[in-house]
Amino acid sequence: MPQTATQTIFDVRHLYVWYGEDQALKDITLTIPENQVTAIIGPSGCGKSTFIKTLNRMVELTPNVKVRGEILYRGQNIIDPSYDVVQLRTDVGMVFQKPNPFPKSIYDNIAYGPRIHGIKNKAQLDEIVEKSLRGAALWDEVKDRLHENAYGLSGGQQQRLCIARCLAIEPDVILMDEPTSALDPISTLKIEELVQELKKNYTIVIVTHNMQQAARISDRTAFFLNGEVVEYDDTNTIFSNPSDQRTEDYITGRFG
Ligand code: ADP
Repeated sequence: MPQTATQTIFDVRHLYVWYGEDQALKDITLTIPENQVTAIIGPSGCGKSTFIKTLNRMVELTPNVKVRGEILYRGQNIIDPSYDVVQLRTDVGMVFQKPNPFPKSIYDNIAYGPRIHGIKNKAQLDEIVEKSLRGAALWDEVKDRLHENAYGLSGGQQQRLCIARCLAIEPDVILMDEPTSALDPISTLKIEELVQELKKNYTIVIVTHNMQQAARISDRTAFFLNGEVVEYDDTNTIFSNPSDQRTEDYITGRFG
């Protein structure tokens, strides 16, 4: 689909982030389209994780962090201190590198968020749990043991549980920070297939150090280096015909 036909979800303008005196992001300007997978690639320490954590303001949980610039999320500047950050983190969910289920049952992991949002009715919670687990392609594997501890699941299942937990609060965007780096190849493939499914209903922004993964699953790719965006384009263009020598050097494995 041509870019012009898609809606912009995030419009990032002149974004800067510092940790204390150390600058982590410099003048990031880019837009993220709806219902697509946007991959953020680049060598370790180049600001990928910092960048996606600005999109739901989780970066602010780090002491001494300073954020400047604008991030328009569906037209509203989320950097504005008056923006409702609790709502933002509901709308913009996040899945981390290491699966981090709560030490609770599979059911309670999913029901946790909806309960916090005031849903107490059991039938309604049952429905959310099933729908979320189906959405994360995990239902068939766990439907007979919903009340067992989530720690009994494999790493790949735990990561899909974390995705289901995210779906349960009906996000608009899902941020994924290297979601498969702790997983085996088969579990990785399942998550990659799931991402393709999820983009029909959600916008996905995924950090990955795995370039093959970015090439396989994303529509758009941004190449970050030293806190800056070197190049941002359709994934096919980035991997077949990059316009910047540094992008070419990175994707051909000459550094990083
Ligand atoms: P990436 O995700 O590309 O590996 P990060 O966003 O984690 O990069 O880090 C970007 C830069 O910010 C690095 O120099 C890193 O050391 C620094 N940094 C990241 N997190 C913190 C933090 N909590 N406190 C101080 N510096 C940090």
